[in-house]
Amino acid sequence: MGSAMLEHGFVRDIVEQAATPFYYYDMNVLQATLAEVNRQTAGHPFRVHYAVKANGNPHILKNIANHGLGADLVSGGEIKAALAAGFDPQEMTFSGVGKTDWEIRLGIENGIGCFNVESIPELEVINQLAGEMGKTANIAFRINPDIDAHTHKYITTGTADNKFGIGIEVLEGAVKHALSLPNIHMKGLHFHIGSQITMMQPYVMLCETINRLLDHYDQLGIHFETINVGGGLGINYLEPDTHPLPDFEQYFGTFKQHLKLQPNQLLHFELGRAIVGGCGSLIARVVYVKENRNKKFIILDAGMTELIRPALYEAHHEVQNLSAAGREQQDTYDVVGPVCESSDVFAHDCVLPVTQRGDLIAIRSAGAYGESMSSRYNMRSMPASVFAGNQ
Ligand SMILES: *Cc1c(COP(=O)(O)O)cnc(C)c1O
Repeated sequence: MGSAMLEHGFVRDIVEQAATPFYYYDMNVLQATLAEVNRQTAGHPFRVHYAVKANGNPHILKNIANHGLGADLVSGGEIKAALAAGFDPQEMTFSGVGKTDWEIRLGIENGIGCFNVESIPELEVINQLAGEMGKTANIAFRINPDIDAHTHKYITTGTADNKFGIGIEVLEGAVKHALSLPNIHMKGLHFHIGSQITMMQPYVMLCETINRLLDHYDQLGIHFETINVGGGLGINYLEPDTHPLPDFEQYFGTFKQHLKLQPNQLLHFELGRAIVGGCGSLIARVVYVKENRNKKFIILDAGMTELIRPALYEAHHEVQNLSAAGREQQDTYDVVGPVCESSDVFAHDCVLPVTQRGDLIAIRSAGAYGESMSSRYNMRSMPASVFAGNQ
């Protein structure tokens, strides 16, 4: 890395020269994360597909593809981005409740590894379109296992009352139907129970559910080539410097210990946040420091348009002042953006070194669902991205 480092390992030249606001990606953290994923999965019949929706930045995608991961995709646009980044189509999965005809055709045309099918009407359409194209489509059924991942209500996906997947009670009919369709090759079962999951217990429950299902289908003489347990592993938003990587050993270890894979069965993972969350920070400049009644506000040139997670999920991100070296005094601030919405707040009652107009602020752990969820609301520009470290 470069010589002059700011606090917390930011490369001074890069941070101070780029026009704010921008995403700063520490590629050393990304490389370390990918190396650890590969280390923990080596020697097991495991395949990790990166969930592109977490961050579709082309440079990040290329790095991840170069480390041999597959891609989990949720739109035609993501299929195109993954192809452009060099992911192997065979190692692509396509999820989503509302796949349109052109997106399905694009997937079939490029021979993607698996459609994660979320309904019987979708299965029928894939069969029909594959037939028209003279091809066979690989599918897995996305099952809603009715497991509560104890995460925020907008990011829990595996309980019975949300829109994702098909119910376990109708699975057997669906499986038998799929086996009868001429242009469908039924490969496996797919699950995804939620996001930002930091306790392993929901995953243990998922393993137990899958074991029961596999036993049941075994008795019917039905074998699945792939079991896909989705993503959802969380990161430590509170301590990005002491925990830059998630505990992959514990995560993969949970499946090694609890899931009874059958011979010749592959286990697929679809991690998004856990791969890219820690490597990114949103860098902004302080435009004004102002005081209303008893509150002090730091107003940044970045807002919910660059990073919507605090406004959307009440998510926590550590806020750091990168320009405050040597300042002893602290104060308490609400750190807010410039967008015309009262939810445009990054942090309430945040204790920071006394902060001034022009200071550089880092909003940490913003590599996942940051840049990829940015918008042009208020006719703002899309954020730029800069890369530090080995690439
Ligand atoms: C979003 C999503 C993922 C990735 O979730 P993370 O919490 O980022 O790991 C994986 N699979 C599916 C089907 C998804 O929708």
